[in-house]
Amino acid sequence: MRKIFDCHIHCSENKEDVLVSYAKANGLEYNLPELLSMMEEHNVSGGLLLSPPLRNGGIVPNRDVIGLCNKSKNRLFPIITTEPNRTMIEDCILLAKKNLGFVKGFKILLGYFPVFPDDKIFSKLYDYAENENLPVLFHTGDTATPDGSLEHSHPLNLDRLANKRDSLKIVACHFGNPWFQDTAELVYKHKNFYADISGLFTGGAKYSKHYLNFLARALSDAIYFMGGAEKLLFGTDYPIATYSESIKLAENLEIDREDIDKILAKNANKVFPL
Ligand SMILES: [Zn+2]
Repeated sequence: MRKIFDCHIHCSENKEDVLVSYAKANGLEYNLPELLSMMEEHNVSGGLLLSPPLRNGGIVPNRDVIGLCNKSKNRLFPIITTEPNRTMIEDCILLAKKNLGFVKGFKILLGYFPVFPDDKIFSKLYDYAENENLPVLFHTGDTATPDGSLEHSHPLNLDRLANKRDSLKIVACHFGNPWFQDTAELVYKHKNFYADISGLFTGGAKYSKHYLNFLARALSDAIYFMGGAEKLLFGTDYPIATYSESIKLAENLEIDREDIDKILAKNANKVFPL
């Protein structure tokens, strides 16, 4: 039986959660019981939970994310999200220390603040992540809101950081969408650089069937360029994308079966302390 690990999931019980509208568009209830039952249905053994953005700015508190993970009976593990704010970064490190072993990494949202990933403000977080061998995930590419800054979310901004910190595990979320080739070059160039394929296919649009084919082709080309699929991670970005569509995208990649299996589950063990 195929094994799957979902490296990118959102969930909250917060009414101001921006992702509620995405959930509605996908016909999802968007809550923990639904998420766990969908994981069960699609043979997803576990996943990483990330804080969703809030409508009034800011994010769902990381403590709420940890709370949901605690309720998941060892199916979900938290990723701690931080904004470019000194107090919040200190809090995030403390929270990770308090939950060492349970927290599987950090996340920084690029494109939502006028800050680049190599900004000095993040130095302490990167030092801690390097010491504990925890990866840092970055939102890259298209932003969920039309006022996002693509200049800041462009994946190539991560090259400067990766040049300076070659022992920091970096994960570019959403494969830098739509800058697939740039992201492929970063994964190829840097030893500790990974990318997830979450939240790429949202469906429902006029040419969505063609778009799924386009994505499968673009990702397959990227894998040929990188010379392998060892550093790609499966993720849904639930509720932005559904399990069935996300799995379909991975299954449609024009690569060997064993490489699809690496993306769906095996590679996650190399990046996260699972
Ligand atoms: Zn996400």
